[in-house]
Parts: sequence; structure tokens; C-alpha cells
Amino acid sequence: MAASRVVYPFTALVGQEAMRLALELNAIHPAVGGVLIRGEKGTAKSTAVRALARLLPELEVVADCAFGCPPEGEGQCADCQGRVAAGEALPRARRRMRVVELPINASEDRVVGSIDLEAAIQAGARRFQPGVLAEANRQILYVDEVNLLDDHIVDVLLDAAAMGVNVVEREGISVWHPARFILVGTMNPEEGELRPQLLDRFGLCVDVTGIRDVGQRVEIVERRERFEVDPEAFQRAWADAEEAEAARIRAAIAALSTVTVHREVLAAIAQLDVQLEVDGHRADLVTRKAAQAYAALAGVPAVRVQEVAVVAPMVLAHRVRAAPGQRPRDIEAALRALMSPEEPRLQAASS
Ligand SMILES: [Zn+2]
Repeated sequence: MAASRVVYPFTALVGQEAMRLALELNAIHPAVGGVLIRGEKGTAKSTAVRALARLLPELEVVADCAFGCPPEGEGQCADCQGRVAAGEALPRARRRMRVVELPINASEDRVVGSIDLEAAIQAGARRFQPGVLAEANRQILYVDEVNLLDDHIVDVLLDAAAMGVNVVEREGISVWHPARFILVGTMNPEEGELRPQLLDRFGLCVDVTGIRDVGQRVEIVERRERFEVDPEAFQRAWADAEEAEAARIRAAIAALSTVTVHREVLAAIAQLDVQLEVDGHRADLVTRKAAQAYAALAGVPAVRVQEVAVVAPMVLAHRVRAAPGQRPRDIEAALRALMSPEEPRLQAASS
């Protein structure tokens, strides 16, 4: 990839606010669990993901580690841990965050990595050929048309995403490495659905559609045109806005652990999910994390019902289902009830 390749600025994107916010929330709090972007082609999905990566803080890495481990702290591979234990000073480097793309026809070996069994048996050496999950460690893993992937591969991806570790086992030999990444999947629902069990494992889901506002559509065309004519000049024109947004994200990452979530707010989240008949407890957990990330971004010290109301549609879009022959429960109506003054208990939580 050419180093000079200019990426379209995140702040120059027009509309698609929910998609942009969902991406930022994951960058601030990766435990939110990734985002599934549903929508037609040509809605700037991949542009937005690449643009976001440019706004995120650089990573401190162990320069010669295949997994880009952090030089200290949690999340190191066995090799780096061993080197630290042996008293070695690990070589450091700083790297920009990358978007690692999963090829649509990737084999399981290509995704998880492969063990050279012959080398392992003959030399007793552990020859591991890292795969996409190794490359994606601490990066953004972008899976276009995730609904067209083999179910088994999606399973493997979501397992690694949930555990932060990739374990490869072949013929009694086992290798593991850290695989913490922000998972961004896209799908066009017209080309097939994702099984509900897999859907539920994406933290957030946003639906993007082509923008219908004429003014915004004109703005998209004009900006795109200016970008294509002179990408460097376009980037310079947006440099201040980009730096301001990058600073906002950095501040949110720094503030995240200080943002509190009171029990009343958790009760409001639980009530919402009960009312909407959401299965299991994942929605409650994800809502808490996403609302915390949003509060950090908004500079609010404690999560209120307002923050819950902003993130809840992204948590619930793929989790609220209709019983056969019935209309799906109305998320907007449930949120209005949550925010309404007739609910004194919840209002108390928001003040
Ligand atoms: Zn390492």
C-alpha cells in the first residue's frame, strides 16, 4: 500500500451519524463488542472505517513481535511475556492503527493461522504461521459482507473477538496469541441474513440508507469532487476539524474509567430490555458499556437516561425481534416511555 495514499477525512463525511457514532464508541471502549453495519452499497461504510482509524491514537508496540504486543501491561503474547520475565528490554515502536480486511474467501487457516506440524514433530519447534487474527490484534478488523462468510468462520471470528485470544489446535499441538480487535462487519440484508445467534454477538448494529436530503446529497458530491481533484489540499482544509475530533476521542478514552453508571440507570436499562422482550442479558451489558463510552465522549461524568436513549437503538436494532405474525416491538416508543416525566423513578436517575 502506498504510504502517500490519502484517506478521506472522518469529519468531512456527511450524515450517517449513527454509523459514525457506533464506530467511535467502539474505539473508545472496545468491550462494546464491535459493530454490524447493515445497508446498501455506496453508503461510505468502508470510507468511514478507514477514516476513523486515522483519528485514533498511535499504538505503542513491541517492534519485532508479530502480534504488535504492548511493550508492557496486559495483552502480551507468550513470547513477549517470556522475554520480559528474562529481563530483556523489548524494542519499542509507535504505529498508526490499521484497518485489517478479511478476504471474503479466506480459509480457516488463513484466518486463525496455521501450525507447521512437520516442523513441530521433527524439531520440536513450534512453527506458527500467523493469520488474519494475528494481524488484527489491537487493530480494526473489517469484514465486508459478513453474511456471505461461512458460518464457521464467523463463529471463529466472534469467539476471538469475545475472548481477546486466538487458540489454534492441531493434532495435540496448541498455540495461542492475543487477538483483541474492533470488529466491524458490513452486510447488505438483501443478499441474505445472518443467523440470530451470530447477530446477537455484535455489540452494536446500525442501519444505513442512502441520504434522502437533497442538500446533503449535493454536499456529498461537491466534497467528493474536491477530494478527487486534490486530495492533499482537501486534507489540509479539514486538518483542524480532524485534530479536534481526534482530541475529543483521546479525551474520551482517558475519561472512560472515571465515568460512573449508577444502579438506577442500570435498572432503567433492564426495564427497557424487559419491555422489549430482548433475549438474554447481553443487551443490558452492551448498553451499559456503550452509554459509558458515549458519556465519556460527551464529557458527562455519570451516565444518565439521556445517554442510554442515544445508544439503545444501536444495541437493540438487531436484538428486538417480532413473534411470528406480529410487528416488532417499537424501540422508539419504549425509549419515549423511558424518558417521559410519568416515570419519576427514572427521571430521578437522570438528574
Ligand atoms: Zn508479543
